[in-house]
Parts: sequence; C-alpha cells; structure tokens
Amino acid sequence: MLFSDTINVDNSQRQAALLPRNLSVLETWGFGLTGHVGWIGTAPAIHAALGAKAIFVWLPGVAVAIMLNLQVQQLGKYWSNVSGGTPNYAARLLNTFPNLGRYVAIAYFFSWAAAPAIYAIILTELIKVNLAPLGIVCPETILRIGFSAIAFIVAFSGSRALAILHLVFVVPAIAFVITFCLQGLGWIAWNQVEVEFTNNTLSFSEWAKWFFIATYSVYACETTSSFVADSQRPARTLQFLTVAAWLIPVVFLGGSWVLLALAPNSAIGSDTFLNLLTASQKFWGNSASFAVTLLISFSCLLSCATAVANSPRILYQLALDQQLAPVFAVVSPQGVLEPALVFTFFISCLCLAWGDVAEIVTVAGTAYLVSIMGLHLGLWLRRDAPEVRWGKLSLVFLLVETVVLVIGGTLWSWQDLLGGLTIPLAILVGDRAIRRISFAPFHPQWWLKRYQYKQRNFKDFVVNQVIILIILVCSATTIGWAIGGNLHRTLNQQSANLLVILLVTLSFMAIAIACWTTLPQIAAIEEARKQAKNLLSAALYTVPDTILVVAENGIIRQVNPPGEEIFDTPISQVIGRSLNQFLPNLVGQPPQWANRSEQIIKIRQQGRTLDVSVSSPSPQRFPEYVVILRDITERKQAEESLRSTLATNRALLNALPDLLFRINAEGIVTSVVPKGDRIAAKDFVNKHINEILPANVAQEALQSLQQALASQEVQIFEYQMLLDGELHDYEARIVVSIDNEVIAIVRDITKRKQAEADMRVTLEKEKELSQLKSRFVTMTSHEFRTPLTTILSSAELIEKYGFKWTEEKKLQHLLRIQSSVKHMTQLLNDVLLIGQAEVGRLEFNPYEINLTLFCRDLIDEMQISNHTHKIVWNSENSCINACIDEKLLRQILSNLLTNAIKYSPQGGIVHFELICTPQTAIFRVQDSGIGIPISEQANLFDSFYRASNVGTISGTGLGLAIVKKSVDLHGGEIAVESEVGVGTTFTVTLPLNQKV
Ligand code: ADP
Repeated sequence: MLFSDTINVDNSQRQAALLPRNLSVLETWGFGLTGHVGWIGTAPAIHAALGAKAIFVWLPGVAVAIMLNLQVQQLGKYWSNVSGGTPNYAARLLNTFPNLGRYVAIAYFFSWAAAPAIYAIILTELIKVNLAPLGIVCPETILRIGFSAIAFIVAFSGSRALAILHLVFVVPAIAFVITFCLQGLGWIAWNQVEVEFTNNTLSFSEWAKWFFIATYSVYACETTSSFVADSQRPARTLQFLTVAAWLIPVVFLGGSWVLLALAPNSAIGSDTFLNLLTASQKFWGNSASFAVTLLISFSCLLSCATAVANSPRILYQLALDQQLAPVFAVVSPQGVLEPALVFTFFISCLCLAWGDVAEIVTVAGTAYLVSIMGLHLGLWLRRDAPEVRWGKLSLVFLLVETVVLVIGGTLWSWQDLLGGLTIPLAILVGDRAIRRISFAPFHPQWWLKRYQYKQRNFKDFVVNQVIILIILVCSATTIGWAIGGNLHRTLNQQSANLLVILLVTLSFMAIAIACWTTLPQIAAIEEARKQAKNLLSAALYTVPDTILVVAENGIIRQVNPPGEEIFDTPISQVIGRSLNQFLPNLVGQPPQWANRSEQIIKIRQQGRTLDVSVSSPSPQRFPEYVVILRDITERKQAEESLRSTLATNRALLNALPDLLFRINAEGIVTSVVPKGDRIAAKDFVNKHINEILPANVAQEALQSLQQALASQEVQIFEYQMLLDGELHDYEARIVVSIDNEVIAIVRDITKRKQAEADMRVTLEKEKELSQLKSRFVTMTSHEFRTPLTTILSSAELIEKYGFKWTEEKKLQHLLRIQSSVKHMTQLLNDVLLIGQAEVGRLEFNPYEINLTLFCRDLIDEMQISNHTHKIVWNSENSCINACIDEKLLRQILSNLLTNAIKYSPQGGIVHFELICTPQTAIFRVQDSGIGIPISEQANLFDSFYRASNVGTISGTGLGLAIVKKSVDLHGGEIAVESEVGVGTTFTVTLPLNQKV
C-alpha cells in the first residue's frame, strides 16, 4: 500500500513541473532552526503564568518534540520526493481518510501562513513602543504590511534567495539563543542559583492551557522536513532533524531554566523583551539589551521568512497529490511556487486585517495542534508500517493532545478554538471555489503562459546593481542622519534598542530589495554556470573516449573515467605522470607531438590501437593541451576483416566465369562485374533490363527478380541470345543481396547445352544399338533354327536310311539341305550387307542400265519361283538410260516385291509400276496383303524391325533396312502407304543420271 502510494506520487510529480533541487544542505538546515528561535515567543508567557512549574509543561513537550523530529526524519527518508514535510506526510499516513488528511495538512498550512502576520504585528508593536518616547508617530499599517510583505518579496525571487537570506539571519539568531541558554546555565551553576518552586500544585487544566501554547513552538522544530524535496542532498538535510531534535532540550529546557532561575520576578509579566533582558543582564551585562533586541527582531523576521518558504510547499505537494486545485502545483522557471505563495500572502493579509495577536495565536495554535494530532492518528493507524517508529505510543500522544485541545483551547477561548477548527475547512471550501471559478489566474495555464513569454534579460544587471547600491547608500545615510539627530537629543537605552531594530529591519529590507532585483540574476548566472559545468562533466563522463589535459611538459593534469580502463591504472595514479610513459611513441614534449597519430599499446597482454588527437595549446600563461584517445582496435580489426573479405571476393569473382549484375527492384542495373573484353560495364550500368535483353528474356528476368524479392529464394532461368552472330545459351541465377536489390549471376552454358545434345544423340544411338542387338538375337534364334533343324533332320535321315532309300529320295533330302544352307547364306548376306551399310562401306556403283528391261527381267525371275501370286507390270513410258547401281536396285525391288508377295498370304495380284521422268524414276509396288499398323510404319526401315501383325510369316526385318540404305545411297526417297487388312504400297523415287 505504502509502496503504491510512493509510485503514485512519483507519477504525478513527473506530470507537473518539479521543484528544482537547488537548495544546499546548509540552506535547508537554516530553515530547521526557526522553531528553536521561536522559543522566545512562548516561553516568557508560560513562565509568567506558571513560574517554576513551567518546567512541567516543557518536560513532556520536549520529549514528544524530540520523538516527533525523529519520526518525521523517518517519514522523510521514506518520502524523500515529498515537499512540505510533516503535514504532507500526515496526509499520506491518513490516505484511508483523504478528507481528514487534507484537513490536517491545511490546518498545518494555516498555522504557518498566519505567522508572518503575527510577527509583523509584534515587530510593529516593538517599534511603536520604542518610537513613542521619541515622540515619533509610527506608521503602523505601513509597517505591518511592510514586515509581512518583505519575506514574500524575497520569496518571489526564488527559494535560494530566501534560503540565503534566512541563513544570514538564522546563524546569529540561533547563536544568540544557544549562547543565552548555555551561558545562562553556566552562570547558574557557577553561582549556584536555586530555583524556587512554590507549593501551589499545578492543576491539569492549567497545565493543559499552557501545554496548548507550548506545542506551537516546541513541536515546530521539524521544519527542515519541508525542504527535503528541494535539497541537493536530501539525506543530509534529513540528518539535520537529529541535530534539531537534540537542540530542543538545550533551548526549551535550558532556556526556560535560565528564565526560571534568573528572571523569577513575577512583576516582569509575559513581556519577552523584559524577561530575556532580566535574565541575560546577569551574564551579558550592558550588552544584554542590545542582544535581546537583536534576538527578537531576528526571530520575528526569521519566522516570517520560514512561513513564506514552508507554507506554499504544503499547498504545492497537496496539489501534486490531487488534493488541492492544480494551480497550486505551478512552479515558475526560477523554482518559485507563485500561485501558492500568492494564496499564502492572501491568508497572511487576512490575519493582518484581523489584527489581534492573541486571538490569531490561539486560532493558529489550535490549527497547529490539530495537525499534529492528525499526524499522531495517522502514525497509530499505520503503526506496523516500516516508516512508523512509535505507532502505539502515538495513540497516547493523540489522546493527551485531544484533551489538551479541548480543555486548553476552551480555557483560552472557545470561539478561537472553534475558529481554529473551522478555518481549515473554510480554506478547503476556498480551494473548491478556485477549482470551479473560471477566473484565469485560478488555473495553471494562465501562469504557464506567462512563463513562456517571460524572457530573462541580463543586460541591465550591472546598471541595476549600481542603481540599487546608490539607493541603499543614500537611504541608509538619510535614515542614519535622521535617527542620529533624534538620538542625540534623547540618548537612552530605548533609543539604542530602536536603532538595533531599525538596523536589522533595514538590512532585511536591503537584502530583500537586493534579492528582488539582483539575486535572481546572480542565481541564474550561477545556475547557468552549474548547468555548463554539469554538461561538461556529463559529457566527460559519457563519452567513451579518454580525454586528458596535459601540461606543457607532458604531465597529465586531468583525465576522465575511460582513462582508467585504457591505461589499466587508477585515475589517481594516471594524474601526475607523463603521458609518454603510457604512450612511448609520443616522443618529447607536447609541442613536438603530431596533431593526429595512431599508437599501439599493450593493455592486459593485449595490443590495442589508439587514435591520438592532440589539440593546439590553450591560450594561457601555462599552456595546456587536450589529448583525446580513442580505442580503434575493433574498427581496425573490422577494416582488416573487410579488406580480407574484399580480397576473397575479388579472387572468387576473377576465378568464376560468370557475369555479375546488381539490379535494383525496378529492374535497373546498378553495377556489373564484367568478364573479358566482350562485356563493358558502361553497356549495362544504369540501364533497364528491357534495354539490355530481348523482350521475351527481359520479361522472364523481371518476373524472376520479383519472385526472388518476394520469396527471398534463388530463382534460376535459362535463355538464348545472339552474341556476335552466334546463338548462345545462358543460365541466370537471381539472388537477393540486400533489401530491394538482387544479384544476377549469368553463365554462358552454350558448350554445356551442346554436350548435353550430343549426349542425348549418343544415348539414343546406344538405345538403338541395344534394341538392334535384341532384335538380331530374336531373328537369328528364329530364322537360323528352322533351316538348321531341316539340315540336321535331313542329314540324320540320310545317315540312317540312306542305304535303303532311292536316289530320288536321297536327292530330295540333299536339295532340302542345300535350300536351307542357301537360305542361311542369304540371311548372312543380308546381315553382312546391312553391317556394311551401317558402317558406310556399302559400295555405290551407278552405271547406265535399261530400267524397263531390268524390271521386266526381275519380274520374270520372281514369277518363276512363285505361282500363287501374279505380278502385274505397268510402265507408261520406257526408261532406257538410267544411271543407277544395278546391284542395289535389285536389292530394293526384289525385297519390295518379295514382301508384297510374302505379306499377301491369300495370294492375288501385286502391282509393280515404273514411272520415269527426265530426272527421276518412280517405282511403286502395291499389294492387297495384311498391311502395316500406322503406329509402326515409322520404324519399318530399322534393322531387324518387324511389324506386330506378321504372325507366323517368317522374316529377318533386314529387307526394308537394306532397301532404305540402298535408296539413301542413290539419294532417293522411299515412302509407304498402308492400311491393315487392305494392303500396302511402297513408292521409291530415285534420281536418274547419277554421276558415275
Ligand atoms: P521381313 O524379313 O520380316 O520381311 P522386311 O525388312 O522386308 O523384313 O520387312 C520388315 C517388315 O515390314 C516385315 O516384317 C513386315 O511386317 C513389314 N512389311 C514389309 N512389306 C510388307 C508388305 N508388303 N505388306 C505387309 N507388311 C510388310
């Protein structure tokens, strides 16, 4: 819960302008002593009323106040970013009852906001009393407003101005108070003065009445906490709360004891001046009056200054926590809480208008006690939280304080008590109104706009200062003159006191005017100087480079933190040594060093390369040089590896026969790695693919490019292109290189393509050969077996039965043997012939023959051995002188005619036609046989190929192959037309007049 509170606060703080942490520890401490000095305001009255018994009021008051200080310190540690201190811690402790928390904080605020008015009235009264004997009429109203306003004027100059001013006055003031207490106690001890306690008992109601008043000063020693969020070192600021705590008994018990012992006369009454004077005269003698006057004037002005510093912070933090109108969270660029300050001034003015110090004190005291009760309630409610020190005891304090508030408050005045309880409520109602009313200054934007346009002008700084000095000197002289004149006439103690008051007030005013005019500028200059210093040190601490300041003799004067690492030596040991102890290559003194060089040094056994820059000497009496060292080892290594990668790439590119083109997503070639002389980069670079490649290839290339970019995968395509009149084959690989760019690796694959084609032909031939072999084996196994069987059977029959056979029968078998051998011989001849034809050894010897006669003879020859078929010869014109190889022609025609007969098993007519033209002889053999399936007609001329429909008709599949070879040798053509079951027609066209 607490933790989440802290987070919320931090977030809201981030949204609003933050108070700058610009108060030094000493300045925050100054604010923490106002409460102690305030002892002089309450002690005399309590002393006058209770005499020696006053110590019973102070004893518990001091004890609780010490604990309160230590408790607030603990809370401050927990909420170090919370401004305003105690009341804002109370509001947080009471976060389960936010309205109560807000009420308590505002009550505290009011008790402080009333302070300037109270002290302005007291101070005015003091002057009035002192002026009366001189016969000078005191301008009361002006003085009251003036004293109230002084502190506000300074506060508007900025927190620092106020803090410095405060410090200037608080140091002598607290010194006076402590001296008074310690010297007084010493004097009492030395002179053994005894304190007389009267026999009257102290009634509880009386005690409560005076404890009520005592709390307003003794509890208020925790004001340091209000400035923790402004402190440059919050922890140190908080530490002061312990010092403040232990000063409480010194001042409140010690001081009261001094009063009891040294000013016991009840006739003195409650007058502060007389009480302090009576007591201190014993040990200060004649200076007592002067010192006490000084002390009272200081303490009045100090309380005003603390009030104007403390009160706006309470409003500011409440506004940040969204408990009050957001306008109170506005911070000026100088760190002044202007709207909160204006509101505080307004409350002070109201109190001033009220005018009755006694009433204001009771009302403000009520509000103060209520706020401390709220704190004790909050502590008890969260008694188990780590930031709470005496949670359970807080309930006891709360109960006692409640009784004191009711009884003591009523004894003073029930109306004032009621007033003290209701005024914080009235302020909260006012806050609601501020939120709702649309009056521009009630809203942050109005203020922020003002700050935007407000330019700070430093040009008039000196002029301002001179004018102010003149005014101060002149007015001081004039006032001194006037006072001097009066004092001469009536020189007595009172006028000396008046002089003191006037001098203090004047100096306060002088400082106020100075603050208002020049201090902000000095503060701004100081701020600018600090910013510049911060910037420089931030830069020195942030840059990775080592920056050294080197004296003219080469000795290192300053070095930033990276130097520790680069030299592997603590900074303290680097400073004071000569730079060339670390960098031996920097020979001689800085003036001889090169402006820029590279040095290699060994750090932790590793060589590191440093880039060393030496500045020009600084223009001063003892010139200094700034040396910047940058560790460039990694960069060097990267450069080296880049160089080696480049070399590898270049070697690879040179070794590869491929062309490399970088092409962007639009298809424009951005660079080329050319090969040889034939391709020049200028022919390609900055050209679109469409301009380089033929349209169809360019189209394909662009598609591949887009695909490669889309899929991030290598795309490969092949294309052909004319180069120097020759058709080349190319293979292009498209690879994505970087975003929106590809590399096309193009390779000339013409030779590979050629080799592939050759390979395919060879393979085809291989295949053919193997088919040929298998067909040959099939043929021989069929065609040789039959005649061999015939030969074997006839020979065996002759062997066995020859002796009893007739000659005729023997002859018959011998003829069968001869016929089979002839058939086999024919077969072998055919094989031989086709073998010769395959290797191109078939001879071609054309000579003139009478074609008509040749054909007729052939028909006759064939017709002799065949009676089942009739060959019908038809020749329209005779063809007498044809230059043809007769042997080959015989192979052609006899094979065609034999086939026509053989594949017409039903017998019938075979038409044989010869048509001669002057150039060609056309032979046509037509039968009406089994025909050839169309799908097999293309293979008819392959060796050993036989159609699938041959059935039992024997054959070798060589006849048509021989025909084809023979026709080819003549340069002629052969064609076949056939239909299964209808018949077949072979047409051979041979050119005539072959060269002999
Ligand atoms: P074969 O010795 O088998 O006759 P060929 O080379 O002379 O060998 O003929 C090859 C094949 O062509 C034959 O097996 C046959 O299938 C077919 N053929 C050739 N001529 C004819 C034809 N006139 N009628 C039908 N088929 C034929």
